[in-house]
Amino acid sequence: MNEEIKQLTELQVIDLEIALLDAEISSEEKELAKREKAFNERRESITELKEKIEAAEAQRREIEAELADEMARIKERQSKMMQVQTNREYQSLLKEIEDAKKNIKDKEEEIVSLMETSEANSKIMAEQENLISDENKILDEENAKIKKHAASIQRKIKKIATTRNKMAKEIKASVLRKYDMLRVRRNNKAVVGVVNGVCQGCFMSIPPQHFNNILKGDMMLDCPTCQRILFHDPESSEE
Ligand SMILES: [Zn+2]
Repeated sequence: MNEEIKQLTELQVIDLEIALLDAEISSEEKELAKREKAFNERRESITELKEKIEAAEAQRREIEAELADEMARIKERQSKMMQVQTNREYQSLLKEIEDAKKNIKDKEEEIVSLMETSEANSKIMAEQENLISDENKILDEENAKIKKHAASIQRKIKKIATTRNKMAKEIKASVLRKYDMLRVRRNNKAVVGVVNGVCQGCFMSIPPQHFNNILKGDMMLDCPTCQRILFHDPESSEE
């Protein structure tokens, strides 16, 4: 195998290891973010319930004040009745009293309905608050655990990166540039084997003449389809 390709395949082993460790950290962080989002949504729904309950309470107080007014009106009409002269006046006051009584009945029903809704909302809110306090504790613990784990992985990465940089220094700059560019564009696989004439990066066939040149192994050659750096992989070939 071409010496440069050999260096690159060794470097790639290390880069893949680093990429896997990076992925481990980000997958844990992503999972935690998802849970934090659910937690925040629950907290928001509690705030919404609280606002609903407060609004219902304010409405109830308003209706109670109106109720008191209606009661006062009835009392006032009743005392007026003592002094009426005509039947017409009497009938008119009687109707006003009946209307006020009906209003009172409606308002009382409104109050009951408001209280029932608030009671149901309070129950849901209490349940949610219970859940959130447990979740908050778990999230804090998870957060600390993940941070600790991430820090230990970062230390590992740092150690591996030192070796990587040492190895990279041995590689010709132009070759390393090409490798790094391919690594970014081709999902961390810049150097791949050719098995039975097929590129193991994109799984396209290599033209026979090109393949023959790869078989010689003295030059660094690319896959014509995915541009990855190719090497002949006789161990996997069935030739
Ligand atoms: Zn290819």
